[in-house]
Amino acid sequence: MKIKDVRTHILRAALSQPFGYSRAWYDTRTAMVVEIETDDGLIGWGECYGPAPITAAVVASLATLLIGADQLRTDYLWRKIYSSMRDHGQKGVIIEGLSGIDIALWDIKGKHFGVPVHRLLGGAVRSKVQAYATGLYRRRSGDPLRYLPEEAAGYVAEGFKAVKLKVGFGVEEDAAATRAVREAIGSGVALMVDANHAYDAPAAIRLGRMIEPYDIGWFEEPVPPEDVAGYCEVKSALTIPVAGGECEFTRFGFRDLLVRRALDIVQPDTCAAGGLSECKKIADMAEAFGVRYNPHVWGTGIAIAASLQLLAVLPPHPALAGAARADAGIRPHRASDPPGAADATDRACRRRCRRARWLRPRHRNRPHGADAVRGEMMRRCGCRQSQTGGVRYAARNIRVALSTTCAMRGAGGEGAA
Ligand SMILES: [Mg+2]
Repeated sequence: MKIKDVRTHILRAALSQPFGYSRAWYDTRTAMVVEIETDDGLIGWGECYGPAPITAAVVASLATLLIGADQLRTDYLWRKIYSSMRDHGQKGVIIEGLSGIDIALWDIKGKHFGVPVHRLLGGAVRSKVQAYATGLYRRRSGDPLRYLPEEAAGYVAEGFKAVKLKVGFGVEEDAAATRAVREAIGSGVALMVDANHAYDAPAAIRLGRMIEPYDIGWFEEPVPPEDVAGYCEVKSALTIPVAGGECEFTRFGFRDLLVRRALDIVQPDTCAAGGLSECKKIADMAEAFGVRYNPHVWGTGIAIAASLQLLAVLPPHPALAGAARADAGIRPHRASDPPGAADATDRACRRRCRRARWLRPRHRNRPHGADAVRGEMMRRCGCRQSQTGGVRYAARNIRVALSTTCAMRGAGGEGAA
C-alpha cells in the first residue's frame, strides 16, 4: 500500500453576478482540488483554500515527498512535509497545500478502513451543529441598505436562524447596514459581522460599540491577522465576542493567539490551517484554553465534507453568544444514511440535496457562484446530475471525498469567509 500519484485540479467558473467584500471584488470563483491515488486503487480527495494556481504548484512540488510512501501514516507525512518546508513556509500557501494533501490522505484512510473519517478522529460527539447563512456581500449596483435587509430576510424565510453580514466599508455605513439587517431579521435570529480585517483597532472598537445594541453574535476579523495586540485591544473593549483565525496556520500559529488570549472564537479553515490532522490538534488546544472553535469553510463540497468530519468530533462549547440563545441557529440535520446509500435512489439524493443546502445555502440573491464551481466539478468528474443538481453534487461529494456517506449525524458549522 503506497501512494502512486498526486494530481491537482484547478476549477474555475465565471460569476453571473460579481460580489464584493471589504478587501476585493470577485467575478470568478476558483477552487483547487487534490487527488491522491494509491497502488491498491484507492482515490483520496482533498481541497486547498487559497490562490488556486499557487496551491496547485505547491502540491505538485510536494508530490515527490509522497510518492511511494505509506498513505496511512498521516501524522508522519504531515511532519515530513512540514519539516522539509519549515525554513520557507511555516504559514501561507505551503500550509494550504499541505492541508489539501492531508485531507486527501484522510479520505484514503477512511476508504481503507471502510468507516467515516470522524470515527478515525475519535468518534462523533454530536448529531447536530449550527449552520448559518453566509452572504450579505456587496453588489455592483443598488442600495446596500435596501438589498442587504431583503437578502437577510430571505435567509430567515428559508429557515436559517443565524446570518453573517460583511462589514468593513466604513464605520458609519457598517453601523447603518447592521441596524437595517437586524431590523429585517428580528430579534430571534443570530447576527454576526465580518470585517475581513478591514480596520485598525480604534476603528474596529468604534464600530463595535455602535453595533453592540444590535445583539451581535461575533465580530470576525476586526483587524489584520498580524496585529495580535490590536485583537487584544478590541477584545478588551467590546462585549461582542471577537472571532478570527481564517488567516492563521498550524498549531504553532494558534498557540500564540491562544496564549495571548487574543480571540474568543478561533476559526481555522481545515483546507488552510493544516488539514484534518492539524485542525484536530488546534481544536484540542483551544479547548484547553477555554476558547470556542468554529471552523471557517469556503470551497467545494470537499471542503464542506472535511469540515463536517471535524465538526463531528469537536469538543462541546456554548452556543453562539449574543443574540444566539442556547438553541438559536441550530438547523436540524440528519445524515445517517449508511455507506453506499448516496446512489440508492433519486429520493435519497433529493434528501441529501436539501441537507447540503443547509450547509452551503443558496439564495436567489446570493452571488457567490458556488453552484457554478460545482457545475464545473460535475463536468470534470462526469457527474450525470443536471446543473440544477449543483447542491446535490456537493452532497454526493461528501461520499466521494471522504467515504463517509454522510454517516455523521450532523451538518453545518461555520459558513464561509
Ligand atoms: Mg471571515
